[in-house]
Amino acid sequence: MRKQIVAGNWKMNNDLAQTEALITELKKQTKTSNAAVMVAPTFTNLWQAYQSLKGSNIEVIAQNMHFAKNGAYTGEVSASMLKSVGVNTVILGHSERREYFNETDDMLAKKVDAALESGMNIIFCFGEVLEDRKSGNHEKVVEEQIKNALFHLDSSSFFNIVLAYEPVWAIGTGETATPEQAQDMHAFIRKTLANKYGANVAETVSILYGGSVKPNNAQEIFSKPDVDGGLIGGASLNAEDFFAIANAF
Ligand code: PEP
Repeated sequence: MRKQIVAGNWKMNNDLAQTEALITELKKQTKTSNAAVMVAPTFTNLWQAYQSLKGSNIEVIAQNMHFAKNGAYTGEVSASMLKSVGVNTVILGHSERREYFNETDDMLAKKVDAALESGMNIIFCFGEVLEDRKSGNHEKVVEEQIKNALFHLDSSSFFNIVLAYEPVWAIGTGETATPEQAQDMHAFIRKTLANKYGANVAETVSILYGGSVKPNNAQEIFSKPDVDGGLIGGASLNAEDFFAIANAF
């Protein structure tokens, strides 16, 4: 059975006090979602968020990690460091990491390996830029991103991987892929997985959509058969909006 998931990526927003305030608001939301709900605060606030949300239905996850176990990598954070503050899931391959921090498919493959070796779960992001969409190359680009970073894995690794299709042109822009565009790409991703790993893996991996998901469009997007939830940026910074999205199935 595929899991429905709504994960909030808080990016480089919220200092400690603001993080605590947002968590207080999240804890006030009474509607419990059927989906697994996750939030990704910035590194400095992970421990506090983990402590504050312990015992709730909300999992605290990380936005990134380094592939090395430890060593001379100034400014970086390893899988074991994340685990030591209660974090068992990490977002990898976000388009902002690819664009601003030059994360390549090769580097992401190493991060994926390191996370899996440490027993972590991964939300693996990918998606095409606008030119690829306009030129009709979007499926090819997405297929390459998935193949290059994930297709060295064996099928059992996919028990610990969630995919997140995030067209770059729809992230933080207010521009959303239409529910049909999301569905078409998610079906294509599932077909790509099926070709390599078989129908069983393809049918059990959750595929999230990300890109300007808001309370007013979430339901239509999540109603599509191959969309298992969302990775939410801007709207996850408001507790009410985030929970409206988490309850939009
Ligand atoms: C994201 O950054 O993963 C994202 C989907 O952002 P937004 O919802 O703001 O488009």
